[in-house]
Amino acid sequence: MTENTESSEKKPIIVNDLNPNFKDEVSKELGGENVKRCFACGTCSVICPVFAVEERYDPRKIIRMMILGMDKQVLQSDLIWLCSGCYSCYELCPRDVKLTNVMGAIRQIAVKHGFIPEVMKASVDQLEKFGRLTEVSEFENRVRAKKNMPELKPEIPEIKKLLVKLGTRKAIEGGQSNE
Ligand code: SF4
Repeated sequence: MTENTESSEKKPIIVNDLNPNFKDEVSKELGGENVKRCFACGTCSVICPVFAVEERYDPRKIIRMMILGMDKQVLQSDLIWLCSGCYSCYELCPRDVKLTNVMGAIRQIAVKHGFIPEVMKASVDQLEKFGRLTEVSEFENRVRAKKNMPELKPEIPEIKKLLVKLGTRKAIEGGQSNE
């Protein structure tokens, strides 16, 4: 930057903290291609079922913060992990931002920077152990049998193999917790 120190010192701290390249980083990530199209209409927030029950998760606000360059605040936030992937905003966005995919792109960048919530790490532990997020109990299978439902396998080896192939453990251990 060419500006002198005196003028930099007069700027609010938050301006100095912004990363103007953050939106470009997101737009280069798979799923983030249309992010700069957002004109902040708020349709995604109105339709979002997560926002309906958790007002901290405001998709329009998250995308604004991202476009403004608030990279640390976005990447370290647990909110980016709350998207349920329902695709309601994806269908209704007038700018075809594909916000569900954008959230995925932001999470990818968060993982690359080492920001992974403990709950996600615990999910990976479960997947590595059982190939599913919950352990199947005998009780559960007895109930299923009574309802003529097929028995659940205690483990799904294909999922376990997939995790190894994707290098999921290495990815999360290379990072740090954001909690
Ligand atoms: Fe931006 Fe689309 Fe959400 Fe409107 S609906 S705020 S254009 S992402």
